[in-house]
Amino acid sequence: MENCLFCKIIAGEIPSTKVYEDDEILAFKDINPMAPVHVLIIPKNHIDGADMLNAENSAVVSKIFTVAAQLAGELKLENGFRIVTNVGEDGGQTVRHLHFHLLGGKKLNTALA
Ligand code: AMP
Ligand code: ZN
Repeated sequence: MENCLFCKIIAGEIPSTKVYEDDEILAFKDINPMAPVHVLIIPKNHIDGADMLNAENSAVVSKIFTVAAQLAGELKLENGFRIVTNVGEDGGQTVRHLHFHLLGGKKLNTALA
C-alpha cells in the first residue's frame, strides 16, 4: 500500500527495531514507547484497521495474538501485559495499518477511555 508508514517499515524502506518476523507478521519496537515494553505487532498484508476485518482476512489476528503471547514470555512480562488496537479517528488510530500495541514492564494505568 503506497504511502503507508507500516508498509514502508515492512518493505525495509523505513528502519525499525524488529523483535519478531515471519511470512505474515512483523513486530517491532514503538518509536515513542508508553511503557518499558512497547511493541507493535502488524500483519504484513495491509489491512486498514480492526474495522476492516472480515472472514477472509481475520485469521492473521489469531496468529498475532499467538506471537504476542510468545513475545510476552521472551520479554519477561510474566506479571501481565496489555494488548491494544486503536480504530479510526475517535479510537486514536494515527497509522491506518492494523496494529496491536503490546505494552508491559510496569503496572499499567487502568483508565480505558
Ligand atoms: P496508533 O496511534 O494506535 O495508530 O499507533 C501508532 C503507533 O506507531 C504510535 O504508538 C507511534 O509511536 C508508532 N510509530 C509511528 N512511527 C513509527 C516508526 N517509524 N517506528 C515505530 N513506531 C512508530
Ligand atoms: Zn500498510
